[in-house]
Amino acid sequence: MITTLDLWRKRQEKPKHQYTKPYDPSPSKHLHLSQAGGCARKETLRLLGYPAEPTPSTMQERWDQGKFWEEFVAALWQAEYGSEIMRQVPLETDYGIGYIDVLRIQTGTRLDDDPVSGYHIIEIKTTTSDKRNWLPDKGYIDQLMLYGHFFGEHHTNVTLELVYFVMDTREILSYPVEMDRERVGVLLSWLHMVQFAVQDKDPLPVQAGYRPNKFPCSWLTAKVPGHCAFYDHCWTESGHVIE
Ligand code: SF4
Repeated sequence: MITTLDLWRKRQEKPKHQYTKPYDPSPSKHLHLSQAGGCARKETLRLLGYPAEPTPSTMQERWDQGKFWEEFVAALWQAEYGSEIMRQVPLETDYGIGYIDVLRIQTGTRLDDDPVSGYHIIEIKTTTSDKRNWLPDKGYIDQLMLYGHFFGEHHTNVTLELVYFVMDTREILSYPVEMDRERVGVLLSWLHMVQFAVQDKDPLPVQAGYRPNKFPCSWLTAKVPGHCAFYDHCWTESGHVIE
């Protein structure tokens, strides 16, 4: 399997190239497959239209910067396999929607004289070198496995790859992802649970073990504190759960 790392090494040997502006996906009111396994309350609040805090400008800048580098990685695939590459492919399911960052459709290619055809799904993320020991994120592996599950219902020979672009060192890290059917079952239960709660118009409760000063409710990025956009729907000022 050719991975993003192979293309990155190849690209470094070529002259510099101008890359396009970041892709800007429009927000949707569908359940986001990419959220599966995360905070179920958050997804129910969003789908039921509870107001979220606007994204702070510092986070928006980081997001834009991340999108730029994600496009940069996708351009490696496009430069090498233009006609075989599709971008932001919508994956519509009975539960919700996901967008495949890069899909390579291989048809009639040959490897060691064996005809092969298949699909390579690539999810691109950005990170910084101080987070390296925590990679790959479990949540992103979940996301890719769900994509593999739903895409695999209609296609065979599907491979999955999680790619990180390390912004401060300009490195690419590539992780092949294998399907774990047991974990996929857990994620499908998560999707069911959120779907039922939304149908009942009743947001799910704050999960046991969540704390107001811990991720995913709040966090520190580069020593700058941040919190979930729905924080005020969950926690009082004194740090108690809002009933
Ligand atoms: S504040 Fe915490 S519990 Fe509430 S929606 Fe956000 S992540 Fe979930």
